[in-house]
Amino acid sequence: MTKTVNILGATGSIGRSALDVLSRHRGEWRVRAIASGSRVRELAEAAAACGAEAAAVADPALKDALAAELRARGLATEALAGPEALCSIAGDRGADAVVLAASGAAGLPQAFAAARAGRRMLLANKESVVCGGALLQSEIRRHGASVFPVDSEHSAIFQCLAAATPGQRASAVIWLTCSGGPFRTRRDLSGVTIEEASTHPRWKMGRKITVDSATLMNKGLEVIEARWLFDIPAERIRVVVHPESVIHSAVAYCDGAVMAELGVPDMRTPVAVALAWPQRIESGAQPLDFLHLKPLTFEAPDTQRFPLLAMAYEALSEGGGAPIVLNAANEVAVEAFLGGRIPFLSIAEVCRRTLDQVHFGSPDSPEEILEDDRRAREAARGLIDSSLR
Ligand code: NDP
Ligand code: MG
Repeated sequence: MTKTVNILGATGSIGRSALDVLSRHRGEWRVRAIASGSRVRELAEAAAACGAEAAAVADPALKDALAAELRARGLATEALAGPEALCSIAGDRGADAVVLAASGAAGLPQAFAAARAGRRMLLANKESVVCGGALLQSEIRRHGASVFPVDSEHSAIFQCLAAATPGQRASAVIWLTCSGGPFRTRRDLSGVTIEEASTHPRWKMGRKITVDSATLMNKGLEVIEARWLFDIPAERIRVVVHPESVIHSAVAYCDGAVMAELGVPDMRTPVAVALAWPQRIESGAQPLDFLHLKPLTFEAPDTQRFPLLAMAYEALSEGGGAPIVLNAANEVAVEAFLGGRIPFLSIAEVCRRTLDQVHFGSPDSPEEILEDDRRAREAARGLIDSSLR
């Protein structure tokens, strides 16, 4: 029987990878609804290509523009708009699976909606895991939702842990691999340009995550993501720089055995794993050819040059709302950097100062998380504005 899937963030890098994988399995999967932020033309094009029944934009003011784009393509796709429409797509009980691939904390209400509707969650949006923390995980368990990580490292860890018993997990150590980003070997980061920070050596991704990869904030967010997704404390999550990005992460067991997942860097692989698990389906990714592999190298991350990685561990150990504050400050700082308002090195500086200034207890609801996120953003913006004065 054909299964149905909804995709949030359909116009983005992960959303397009998901649509590509799904296009290879039209008999088995049908796309029911897709959503994006504000790019109505791209969303209408995606709707035309995948035949979605409904399309939604986050920005409520763009509903008519979306409807016009859909009509112009002769589509009967229903046009929806606004955050509630996105949440109803995320929590749609008529869909067998939902791809959560919006970027940033904007994806948080969608993750809660999918969790509360007990959906199969193909989870790319790491910010929702970082901010949702224990609360999101308890909602997932309470409503019988299931999470299949799409982040490549977490997909690797998921696969390496798949056969582990609770006893084996209890002492397992996660090795999160990290490409090191574009500035791994660059000593002086003071003159980094927007263009340099927007280009990743291995992966083609959205703009925000590409800058996060350049500051290593992405790895910091992934440490927090791993802590919650796999219920493993930070002390047993280690980061190793592996510039070739062939090993996507590994799990070390107490007997010395280390399981790793390897492959050509291509996000269609983790999308296909998340979609089909425990089955395996074609993803379109090239197979890895061991006979043509270049040497694989490893080194320790440099937290002096990339303090955001250490800050993520610090936020995890502080607990409460600290991960929300760090994530919010980072989103604001990255936006300011991409807007040409602050230099590259100020991203970490803004995060440091916001973390020192803003403290919240553990939030009790998604609304409280969003309120903490809003207040942390306000503080980070204030710090940026005062530094520019
Ligand atoms: P992109 O910037 O390429 O795409 C972001 C998507 O989110 C777009 O479809 C955008 O729509 C949409 N969007 C923006 N605002 C909202 C909103 N308020 N509600 C719903 N959708 C919205 O990002 P990526 O695909 O690179 O990343 C998406 C997520 O996946 C991030 O959390 C990232 O950390 C994670 N991830 C990405 C990886 C990658 O390889 N790209 C790897 C691992 C994780 P519009 O086009 O209209 O702006
Ligand atoms: Mg990743």
